[in-house]
Amino acid sequence: MSSTEQASGPTRIDDLPIRAELRGQSPYGAPQLDVPVRLNTNENPYPLPEPLVERIAERVREVARDLNRYPDRDAVELRTELARYLTRTGGHPLRREQIWAANGSNEVIQQLLQTFGGPGRTALGFEPSYSMHALIARGTGTRWVSGPRGADFTVDVPRAAAAIAEHRPDVVFVTTPNNPTGNAVPAETVLALYEAAQAAKPSMVIVDEAYVEFSHGTSLLPLLAGRPHLVVSRTMSKAFGAAGLRLGYLAADPAVVDAVQLVRLPYHLSAVTQATALAALEHTDTLLGYVEQLKSERDRLVTELRALDFEVTESDANFVQFGRFEGPGGSHAAWQRILDHGVLVRDNGVPGWLRVSTGTPAENDAFLDAVRALRHGPGADDSAEQTQQTQKKQEQGA
Ligand code: PMP
Repeated sequence: MSSTEQASGPTRIDDLPIRAELRGQSPYGAPQLDVPVRLNTNENPYPLPEPLVERIAERVREVARDLNRYPDRDAVELRTELARYLTRTGGHPLRREQIWAANGSNEVIQQLLQTFGGPGRTALGFEPSYSMHALIARGTGTRWVSGPRGADFTVDVPRAAAAIAEHRPDVVFVTTPNNPTGNAVPAETVLALYEAAQAAKPSMVIVDEAYVEFSHGTSLLPLLAGRPHLVVSRTMSKAFGAAGLRLGYLAADPAVVDAVQLVRLPYHLSAVTQATALAALEHTDTLLGYVEQLKSERDRLVTELRALDFEVTESDANFVQFGRFEGPGGSHAAWQRILDHGVLVRDNGVPGWLRVSTGTPAENDAFLDAVRALRHGPGADDSAEQTQQTQKKQEQGA
């Protein structure tokens, strides 16, 4: 222990000369608890299939010999394969020059904010939404503005356009399907917001499609044609079941890809990451097969939760927002009681609501047993009744 430490105790973050806007803030931190059923971070519950594990090992072995060299800085082969994947599945032809990849879509978003946001600039997103958009804005010195969502969590065009006109943001985020609410934003709404953003500034519109493969609808990639200020961001963390890989990517006008080169770190995407992602892309069809299973399990969760008198937000994602918990302790008390049954769901801080990721059928059964106990088990509260009463009051205009 140093003499300073003995005199004044351990150094705390706020004792350091950190940036003023970081003082007193908390880092992103979904609880990583060791419980039997973890349905709190929207991961894909299926481990990678064995033939893909073999292929990854093979591809990584090939690049391992060359790890004395820096990797392909422009990730040409990987971007070519990502363009091929999007062209095949997104309803819109894309070239490698329109694709950029980074360590998770979080890094893609960070690079976009470093390029188009920053000190003196503003980003706006419609909340509740993915909390990292605001956190990455803060990390890049970009001012964050919380735009409106309706009580049903949809984005209302006149209200949203008014917020854009008022704040004239440099960057607008549209998350579709949205996290944590699960609902998708219609293409017409995104188009109207794009027009509003161009009239106000013009600004960049980032469509975060992290969950689009689970959607009942289609990707917004076709909207890219003729819209150089539109960016679609994607990830291999969800549909490809590869959250541990850390591979996100964007599709946009080639000029956007050129622009993010100005801020990306040289050789940011390791040779091991590129090789692993390429192996996963070789197995796209198998992995998308799991997506179909997860979609039908997601729909089962929606149906069964509704049968238990929970309110459920329409879901186009691999998770479901359910509620409402207005009794004593609200959603946090319900979260704890579900956890007491060994099932970890997510309290995203949306008052009255919780979010559950779709797991394997057995995990989903465990979750449904836990929420059934919430309704009917010992100590069950009367929140179903309360929800119905609240709904009635709302219908009566109370
Ligand atoms: N966008 C949304 C909407 C998300 O929910 C997430 C992760 N939960 C991400 C982006 C980031 O994912 P990743 O960095 O793993 O690609």
